Amino acid sequence: MPNTPCTAWPDRMEIRNFALPSFAHLQYAMSKETDILQPKNPSMHDTEIYPQRGRIDVICGSMFSGKTEELIRRIRRARIARQRVEIFKPEIDTRYSESEVVSHDGDAIVSTPVANSQAILLLASEADVVGIDEAQFFDPGIVDVCNALANQGKRVVVAGLDMDFKGTPFGPMPALCAIAEDVTKVHAICVRCGNLAYISHRIVEGDRQVMLGEQHEYEPLCRHCYERGVL
Ligand SMILES: [Zn+2]
Repeated sequence: MPNTPCTAWPDRMEIRNFALPSFAHLQYAMSKETDILQPKNPSMHDTEIYPQRGRIDVICGSMFSGKTEELIRRIRRARIARQRVEIFKPEIDTRYSESEVVSHDGDAIVSTPVANSQAILLLASEADVVGIDEAQFFDPGIVDVCNALANQGKRVVVAGLDMDFKGTPFGPMPALCAIAEDVTKVHAICVRCGNLAYISHRIVEGDRQVMLGEQHEYEPLCRHCYERGVL
């Protein structure tokens, strides 16, 4: 009986050919890992726990923190629970697609771009669960809209940037956090020291608050590295 090679481990050739993950992959993986650690009780976010009661959940954090991925995860679970879902985003956010909420890893889900917050109230009448992405770009009326939807018995899941690149609370996000039943703050990883990031630092010229972009325009930094870099 000839010796058969052990197949439980890859041979040396496979190990040599194993591609090292890129920095972007590591950054994303670390953000996912921290997301797993963030919710104190992840099950409380599951829509099947509160199937009939209106409520507002906010997912906030800096860029690259996995906000949209978490929104998509919750919406997908609502669909599995056979709830009717509608997702909206401001028309300003057309980085990738006119009709989809798209996260940085391409994990997309169809959404409806709307010109203002009132449009959500009109278009979400049939939904059990309403997802809202990039909420920081909406007008202040989004607060009343979310309250109205929740008071109708709908579950509203809102994702948005908590601060702009200067560290100023962004648009309606502080008010949305205040009225929400549950707030989840997610974090990217500081690209300079590896601690949890708290701000999306702009690394190109410009002073406008509303500026959309990817890695080449922003970098996630922790408080310490941001203060050292800016001052
Ligand atoms: Zn840092």
